[in-house]
Amino acid sequence: MRREPVKAGELAADIRTQSFDEVVAGYSESQALLEAGRCLQCKNPTCIQGCPVNIDIKEFIFQVTRKDYRGAYFTIRKTNNFPSICGRVCPAEYQCRKACVLNKSKLAYASHDAINIHFLERFVGDYGRRNNLKVPEEKDADFSKIKAAVVGSGPAGLCCAGELARKGIKVVIFESLQAYGGVLRYGIPDFRLPDEVLDYEINCLKELGVEFRNNVVVGKSILLDELFQQGFNKVFLGLGAGVPSFLGIKGENLCNIYSANEFLTRINLMSAYKFPEYHTPVNIGEHVLVIGGGNTAMDAARSALRLQKMSGIKPDVSIIYRRTETEMPARRLEIEHAREEGIEFKFLIQPKEFYSDEKGLVRGLNALSCKLGEPDSSGRKKPVAQEGSDFILPCDLAIIAVGLQANRVLSSVTPELKTDKYKDIIVDPGRMETSIRNVFAGGDIVGGEGTVIEAMGMAKKASRAMLQI
Ligand code: FAD
Ligand code: SF4
Repeated sequence: MRREPVKAGELAADIRTQSFDEVVAGYSESQALLEAGRCLQCKNPTCIQGCPVNIDIKEFIFQVTRKDYRGAYFTIRKTNNFPSICGRVCPAEYQCRKACVLNKSKLAYASHDAINIHFLERFVGDYGRRNNLKVPEEKDADFSKIKAAVVGSGPAGLCCAGELARKGIKVVIFESLQAYGGVLRYGIPDFRLPDEVLDYEINCLKELGVEFRNNVVVGKSILLDELFQQGFNKVFLGLGAGVPSFLGIKGENLCNIYSANEFLTRINLMSAYKFPEYHTPVNIGEHVLVIGGGNTAMDAARSALRLQKMSGIKPDVSIIYRRTETEMPARRLEIEHAREEGIEFKFLIQPKEFYSDEKGLVRGLNALSCKLGEPDSSGRKKPVAQEGSDFILPCDLAIIAVGLQANRVLSSVTPELKTDKYKDIIVDPGRMETSIRNVFAGGDIVGGEGTVIEAMGMAKKASRAMLQI
């Protein structure tokens, strides 16, 4: 009998949009067992190559089928430090699930849908969290001569710090914001990744002895040289890509046009939706346009819709994208969820100019229709704006989510730190060492915007090289 994939429980759209509560409930034990039971335990488990950190997926799923959740947790932890986080945010459909043989299987007894590896990973990760499972420290070698500074507390920084601390190395994390976690804290909303999941991982690092120092901008509050003068002899830069890109069109500086980063930071980090109980307000309009097609755009749009509902405003949020749904880089699940929640998708539209009322408040977007042309350097079909196709979209709040770039605070005061034309830090890919000896880097600051698991993969590689004295 062919067994269909097991769907994870989730809150109904009309209920979940009235709060920032987590949408996906995850698998129960019986659901996890059913889904794990669909795995073919392939001789050539292609899923593993699809995972950026090569988790032994076949093995951990086998352990789930045996109810050995503890074993499954430690199998995942060999290559992935934060399974509860990755199980919630990894774009599995472009990674392990895409590589699962079931996608192509013609076997009559097997479903043709890939295993829901991410839901199983989340189940196992949450089991580990609930039971406070700890990967044993590895203090077999003496690394007491190493003192490491980690700059940035996003997934790259946290992962690097954890790897070093488990070896008994003294690690201090320097973070420019008041809270730790990078995009996991200020970018991805609670309805996808609740704070408690991240807090748990940060507390584990504290228990391992990692020291956290917030509100320190390395490059301003303290220079890289000064870290070495303070006795650190290895530095890891996990600075992320925190600077938003803009469209560069007329009217983009009008009031009530936010970058998605600012909009999400106000909500996630500063609890703007609880204003005036919390200090930071966020404006919310009646007609919201979100420009972009990635995860950031989905998060901004879904947050805006929740704010409208929580303020008693009739929901009206649209996503404006230059290409079509096929080319959208966002996770499929987020697109599905956004649509279920009532976000309208408007494809093949290129923003041309924002216009305002007499008070300088944004009132609408003049846009052009597009057609798809030949593929561009990214391999996606290029949108070609149709001259003369102008039309107006009303809006009183616009959110720009068209990409992020490297933060240049540190590189601008550290000329020896070599960067490329995008100001991303250049590293030796084998060791993740930068042009400065004993300074390593990983995550979005190397190679631009990526994913959580990719950032962690780079950090792990760097941490291994940092052990060499
Ligand atoms: P970051 O997470 O950006 O962390 C960098 C940290 O360094 C920040 O806390 C920053 O304040 C700090 N910092 C920077 N400069 C300094 C300095 N000079 N001194 C001290 N501290 C400094 N990926 C997925 O896999 N799945 C998703 O669903 C997903 N959704 C996303 C949604 C949004 C809204 C965004 C913006 C990104 C999303 N991503 C997603 C991408 C993913 O979050 C990033 O690839 C990942 O966070 C990169 O990790 P990082 O550690 O390199 O950087
Ligand atoms: Fe299981 Fe798919 Fe991996 Fe095969 S490729 S071992 S079916 S998850």
